[in-house]
Amino acid sequence: MSDRVVVTLDGQVHDADQPLLCADDLAAVRGDGIFETLLIRDGAACGVERHLTRLAASARALDLPEPDLDDWRLVIGLAVDEWVRKTRSEGALRVVLSRGRESGGGPTGYATVGPLHERVAKARAEGVSAMTLGRGYSVDFAAAAPWQLMSAKTLSYATNMAALRHAAQQGADEVIYTSNEGQVLEGPRSTVVISRGKTLITPPVEHGILAGTTVDALFDVATAKGYTCEKANIFPADLIAAEGVWLISSITLAARVVTLNGVTLATPDNADDIRSMVDFAIERGEGDTVDA
Ligand SMILES: *Cc1c(COP(=O)(O)O)cnc(C)c1O
Repeated sequence: MSDRVVVTLDGQVHDADQPLLCADDLAAVRGDGIFETLLIRDGAACGVERHLTRLAASARALDLPEPDLDDWRLVIGLAVDEWVRKTRSEGALRVVLSRGRESGGGPTGYATVGPLHERVAKARAEGVSAMTLGRGYSVDFAAAAPWQLMSAKTLSYATNMAALRHAAQQGADEVIYTSNEGQVLEGPRSTVVISRGKTLITPPVEHGILAGTTVDALFDVATAKGYTCEKANIFPADLIAAEGVWLISSITLAARVVTLNGVTLATPDNADDIRSMVDFAIERGEGDTVDA
């Protein structure tokens, strides 16, 4: 039996080992669609509303029909139920919405759940090695070129995957993209956060990076705990000088950058505090008030 779950937007649960897409689906032939990845923990999907809000924003950016979020809430609920019937382990729930078939007929939507990649536990516990790679554009490019879809979580991830393979060939686990000006942008699948005492800083989304749901949740919790949370320019030298450098995302949560371009970074005193704030941020129900 497969340890995976597939549920289509019409609420049908599918055999995860059977083919699902038509050969001309624009997800497959153009990467023309959007996605979200949510963590299933303790039998529930984390941050559902934040992810659905971003799904709707991504759909607007691609001129896709507005997703019916109630349909997606149902599909996510069904997918979680199916997963929980198999295991109480954490799962990675992916929501996919493509433009549909080239021959027409409207968008294709489905959710899948599978186990977490083995790199995740290691990244959480031991941190990651990272290298900076140029992304090839300047920080004002996103505003000037909306067709680049830099603010949307699109299915076109071939270059992100290539960057990660390039890093792996150099012995690094992760990538931190930089702009033409040499500013820090983001990871191929994560948001960069640096810590300096009780200040957390992440680069502004206007610089052409994706608005992360996890960093948003973290900043809410950290602010309530007395941290100052800022969106500001970060340069690679700031990473070296920071007390802590983190890659934040929905599945891996908080991965501390242990080495950057081969240089060992400092171990922050508040590493456990940051990890537990991220855990708390994603586990609490949205709309709950934060008790400092
Ligand atoms: C998904 C993703 C992130 C992290 O977003 P979360 O909502 O925190 O998982 C950051 N950058 C990129 C490019 C991503 O694809």
